[in-house]
Amino acid sequence: MRNSFPTLLLGLLLPFFISAQTTPRIFCGNELFTEMVETQYPDLAESINRTFDKAKILQAGPRTTLTIPVVVHVVWNLPEENLTDELIEAQIQVLNDDFNRMNADTGNLRSMFEWVAGSADIKFELVATERINTSTLFNIDILSGNLIPEVKHTLQGGSDGWNTENYLNIWVCNIQPLKIGPIVVGQILGFAFPPADLDNWPAGSNAPNADEDGVVIDYRVFGPDNPNPVEIPGGTSNLVVKGRTPTHEVAHYLGLRHIWGDGGTFGPNDCMQSDGVNDTPFADSESAFDCDITKNTCTGIDSFYGLDMPDLVENYMDYASEDCMNMFTKGQVEIMRNVVMGPRSGLLEMVAVDDVEPFAPLMTLQPNPASESVLVWMETSITTASALTLTDLFGRVLLHKMIPAGTISAELPLQDVPGGLYFVHLENNQFRQISKLIVNRN
Ligand SMILES: [Zn+2]
Repeated sequence: MRNSFPTLLLGLLLPFFISAQTTPRIFCGNELFTEMVETQYPDLAESINRTFDKAKILQAGPRTTLTIPVVVHVVWNLPEENLTDELIEAQIQVLNDDFNRMNADTGNLRSMFEWVAGSADIKFELVATERINTSTLFNIDILSGNLIPEVKHTLQGGSDGWNTENYLNIWVCNIQPLKIGPIVVGQILGFAFPPADLDNWPAGSNAPNADEDGVVIDYRVFGPDNPNPVEIPGGTSNLVVKGRTPTHEVAHYLGLRHIWGDGGTFGPNDCMQSDGVNDTPFADSESAFDCDITKNTCTGIDSFYGLDMPDLVENYMDYASEDCMNMFTKGQVEIMRNVVMGPRSGLLEMVAVDDVEPFAPLMTLQPNPASESVLVWMETSITTASALTLTDLFGRVLLHKMIPAGTISAELPLQDVPGGLYFVHLENNQFRQISKLIVNRN
C-alpha cells in the first residue's frame, strides 16, 4: 500500500528542478498534482487512500458490462488543436479496445505476464463533443498549485463540464510547457483526478471541486495517428502516439496509480513504494518512453509471483512507449470496476438522449407546458429508489434528484430553467421512462 505522500513542496521539487535544468521531461501530471494539492489540503492524501482501500475490498458481484458516458470538450485556439470528429471517435475506440483487452497488440505481452492480463468489461460511449474556440493559454503552475481549472469553465475560456457525477468529462487542450519561473522543466501530457472522499475539504477552496472532476489531455496525444507531433526532450525523435495517454489518464480517474508507486519520481529510488496492486511487480522508477524489457529495478522474490520479476513495462500505468504498452492486470481491472460501482457509480445512472425508447406511460407531467414548476405523477408508487432528471436536447443535466421508494409524485422547480423543450427522465435499475416537457416563458 502506498502510504507516503511527500508534504514539503520544496523538498519535492528541488531534485526535480535540478535534473530538469539539463533535460526537460514529459510526464503525466498525476505525478505532480497530488503533491501540489496536498500542500494546500493535507487531508487529500488520506482521503484518496481511504477511497482506494474501499475500492480494493468492494465485492464485484456478477460481472456485467459497465457503460461510462463520455463527453469530450475540445477547447482550441490554433486550428490544429480543433481535433476532428473522426479522431475523437477513434480515441473512444482505443479506450474500448485497451480496457477490454481487444487491442491488436496483446500478443506483444511477455508470456510470463499473460496470466495476469485482465479485461475490465468497461465500455465508453461518446455522448457528445463540445467545441470551444478560446484565446486562453492553459499554463499549469507548480508553485501555486494551479491545475488549469479555467479549461473546465466556459466563463474562463474553457468549457463547462457536464454533471461530473454522471459523465466522464475529457477536456482536450493545448497544455503549455511546464515552467518553474522562466525555465521550461517539461511537458505534462495529461492528468486526471482519482476518486476521492472529499467531504472534508475546506469550503470555498480553489482546489479541484466536483465540477472540475475528470480528465485533461494535451491535444497532441489525443487519438491514434494524431497529426501533431510531440518531441521527446533531449532527443531527436517524436513520441509514439496511439491514443494511450487517455487510456492511462482514464485509469487514474478510475483509481489506478503508477506501477512504480511514484517512489522514485522526486526522491531517491526505492522499491518500497507500491501502487497497491499485488500483480504489478515492484519497480523503483518509470520507463523512459522506451520499451526496455530488460528493466528490472527491484530484484528479489516478488511475493505475488514467487519469482524475481522484471518491471512490467507493458502496463498502461508505466511510461513506456505507447508501442510497448498493451495491458492492465487483473488486480488493476478489479480496482477500476469497483471504483465505477462504488465512488463513481453516478456514471452508471445516465443514458444518452439517443437511447430514448417507447415505454408504457408510467408517469405524467402536470402541467405541461409548465413555467414555475412541474409535478411528476407516477401511475403507481415506485417500488425502488429512482433518479429523476431534467435534461435539455443535448443531454445536459439541469436538475437531478433521487426519489425514494414509495414516491407517487415529485416536484421539479423550473424557475431557473429557460424556455424550451426538455426531457424528464425517471430511471431506476428496473425501468426507464422519458417524457417531453415544454417550459413556457411567455
Ligand atoms: Zn500518470
